[in-house]
Amino acid sequence: MFNILYMRIAVLALQGAFIEHEKMLQRLGAETFEVRQLSDWYQTKDALVIPGGESTTQIKLLHELNLYNPVREAILSGLPVFGTCAGLILLAKSVVGEEEIERISTMDISVCRNAYGRQLGSFYCEDVVDGVGDNIPMTFIRAPYIKCVTSLDCKPLAIVDGNIVAARQGNQIVTAFHPELNDDTRIHEYFMSIVREWVNKK
Ligand code: GLN
Repeated sequence: MFNILYMRIAVLALQGAFIEHEKMLQRLGAETFEVRQLSDWYQTKDALVIPGGESTTQIKLLHELNLYNPVREAILSGLPVFGTCAGLILLAKSVVGEEEIERISTMDISVCRNAYGRQLGSFYCEDVVDGVGDNIPMTFIRAPYIKCVTSLDCKPLAIVDGNIVAARQGNQIVTAFHPELNDDTRIHEYFMSIVREWVNKK
């Protein structure tokens, strides 16, 4: 089914768990390429994945490599983007206690970093993700959560222990957990359906 419409997805590969995303997207029939420097960014693409890792390192590198402005502008122009964990932090307009860093800031969410504390930072559960399905595997690694969405344009998609752990705003989706680390492809399929819709509209 996913081979019917060819799609080419950029994966930000500055740091963190990008290879796992590439493998999963390729399994679903997408072509992927890694964005390591500005010249990579100008390749043809239908979407972007921002992986988990260390958000402060990733944002620093985005600025140093002059990727920050083009990436931000593309997302604001509607390029579908999927941010996991650190990627969620990069896309957040507000991060509690961290106003000074210039993040991509395209999503109306307020986020707590390392929100579960050092001990509880990493855990696994399965839960519902709206529009995706039940029993979705959720691997959290020193994860953030979304304290609140700050506009009606942004919809919470999943709630674990009373905290929002996935959300969508237009063509942007974020998860506090790492769907690329489990075998279940449903979140990536959901993202690819957003990409497909966007490509068909272009
Ligand atoms: N704790 C990391 C941060 O704040 C995110 C962890 C992850 O991406 N798994 O950037």
